[in-house]
Amino acid sequence: MSRQSGVITLPADVVGQPGNLPRHCARHGLPAVRQQDFVLQSKVKVEGNRFLTQSNVIGMGERLSDYGKKVRTADVKGWPLCRKCTSTRALWLAVASVMFFGGLATFVGSLVVATVADDMQWLGGVAFAGFALLPLAAFPFTLGSLPRLTGARTSPDGASVLIENPSDAFAAELPGQ
Ligand SMILES: [Zn+2]
Repeated sequence: MSRQSGVITLPADVVGQPGNLPRHCARHGLPAVRQQDFVLQSKVKVEGNRFLTQSNVIGMGERLSDYGKKVRTADVKGWPLCRKCTSTRALWLAVASVMFFGGLATFVGSLVVATVADDMQWLGGVAFAGFALLPLAAFPFTLGSLPRLTGARTSPDGASVLIENPSDAFAAELPGQ
């Protein structure tokens, strides 16, 4: 492993084997209450101006397949999550699902009411508000996501996993220390 300006690099095959990761969480340095398996993606730069100029469906499809080719993933086995990590994750995922399902229920509910009630134009506003909540649920969902929580991501070539500013307790237990 190597450490550069707060970012630790671990080989992807080390992270992909159970039992290699520390027993303290990377974020808070607290003892892990559970080990989590997940798949980490690399960050991909999506060119912004093509998104604006190319609004046709074929362009979209091409860009998505470009994206698919550039994304690298790494398996993570037994990542340590402490009590704080798990409660943060549970909280944000709960907020996200309340927003999503609450928004959906509001949207569908107001449409249903609109079909039986006459002269209720305000329902359109309620339906819109419910609908607007759906994409907004992505924000708490991202906050509770494992890459965000762990501060880890896959390198662009997929050969290693990068961990940003891990706790000392986590860093001290890494293989090769
Ligand atoms: Zn933690």
